[in-house]
Amino acid sequence: MKTQLFRTLTVVIIVSSLLSGCGTGAFQIQMVPRDQELKETQIRRDKGLFVSDKIVVIDVDGILMNKPQDQWMRQGDNPVSTFREKLDKAAADKDVKAVVLRIDPAHEAARAALVAQGAPENLLLLMSGRRTWPAVAMLLDSGEPGFEALIAPGHVATVMGPEEWEFVPRDHHMPTAVAGFAPESLLAALYSVLRQRIEGKCFLDNCYPQVVRPGGNPAAQRFIDQTMDVVAGNWRGIGAIPDSGYVLKPTHAAHDSRVQLPSYTEMARKRAGEMPPGCDCAKVVLGKIYPNECRLYGLACTPRQPVGPCMVSDEGACRIWWANGVRENVWAGRKASGAEA
Ligand code: SF4
Repeated sequence: MKTQLFRTLTVVIIVSSLLSGCGTGAFQIQMVPRDQELKETQIRRDKGLFVSDKIVVIDVDGILMNKPQDQWMRQGDNPVSTFREKLDKAAADKDVKAVVLRIDPAHEAARAALVAQGAPENLLLLMSGRRTWPAVAMLLDSGEPGFEALIAPGHVATVMGPEEWEFVPRDHHMPTAVAGFAPESLLAALYSVLRQRIEGKCFLDNCYPQVVRPGGNPAAQRFIDQTMDVVAGNWRGIGAIPDSGYVLKPTHAAHDSRVQLPSYTEMARKRAGEMPPGCDCAKVVLGKIYPNECRLYGLACTPRQPVGPCMVSDEGACRIWWANGVRENVWAGRKASGAEA
């Protein structure tokens, strides 16, 4: 079964170059509640009558715990079963020629384990993961961080350990808490940082003790150390931040898409990583402005027609503001006050 599963894990960029006429037909399998069936969504049609090759895109995000995830008033899905279900569906479809796993950039450990334990030969990885603490350190060192307390990501702390964030209260005297993504953990972290601030105390509070343990996950850290090097990472619209990116070690170059596909260094591709004109995502991400202070918010840029990445992703700040009902664009007021050059 494992071999069959790995055969299915063929990355699109290899196979699409080998199949004539394919690469335009695709479907995406979305997460569905346990009582519904997986459905195909056609993203783009193949040209021609008899072309039916498909590429499956599977998102891998959240914490892949092999047990049902508790949700508000009901038991949720088991993420491992759901993932397996998607792979099985892809494997059973003879028209599927490639599978793309879109692994959450924070899941460095999953990619590292895959490579360290013997990835299939035809698997290529496009590394885009980032280490967040160097970016936070850069903001804090700038003296204008744009925030007064820090809630650190629990899924990262699960692997790397909460200690990665100790420098924030110790060196910058800022309230800090580690939180998961469930409401109770986020509320606990909010309560903690507010209380730290009101009482004038700063410490690192672990509000996600169910999975975040002192020292993190040593096995996952070993996989990362074995397979990846830490390098300067390029942050879209912000620039390079030292020690904030991961690349595969040269010994794993056979799985590195940037090495195996030299077209990645072409200028057109590099420009694809630039921020669209007028988009203030970088300022939003850095906490310099609120989303609705962008001149495009709610006007040229909406979830239906997103201009920048912060409106595309469910986790994007602009998308979250819009989804929660903020419709007013205050850029004009900001400009009139002189805050906008
Ligand atoms: S509203 Fe759109 S254009 Fe403006 S910062 Fe957000 S994503 Fe970028």
